[in-house]
Amino acid sequence: MVLQLMALPAQLISLVQVVLVPVCFVLAWGIVGLTLWNVTTAVRDGMARAAVMHKIPCAECRYFTNDHRLKCPIHPMIALSESAIDCNDFEPQG
Ligand code: SF4
Repeated sequence: MVLQLMALPAQLISLVQVVLVPVCFVLAWGIVGLTLWNVTTAVRDGMARAAVMHKIPCAECRYFTNDHRLKCPIHPMIALSESAIDCNDFEPQG
């Protein structure tokens, strides 16, 4: 009787180990994979966003005032925004 009571926890522990070890392995590597995927996605989105921002021509335009109160007298609403990417009034400085 005493031997059976001592044997039950050992069986239970081995059963829990058989179930928990693969589950924890999958969860741990899943978290690592999700973290890497998240970082990769953030870097890719940041690079795509930076590429779009570099297409805004206002900083090299002769009408750009570099004054936050009136950035551009011709198109003040779209200056330094994505709407200015194909601005028809762009003229290079100098
Ligand atoms: S004219 Fe167009 S490109 Fe030039 S500063 Fe104004 S919005 Fe930007």
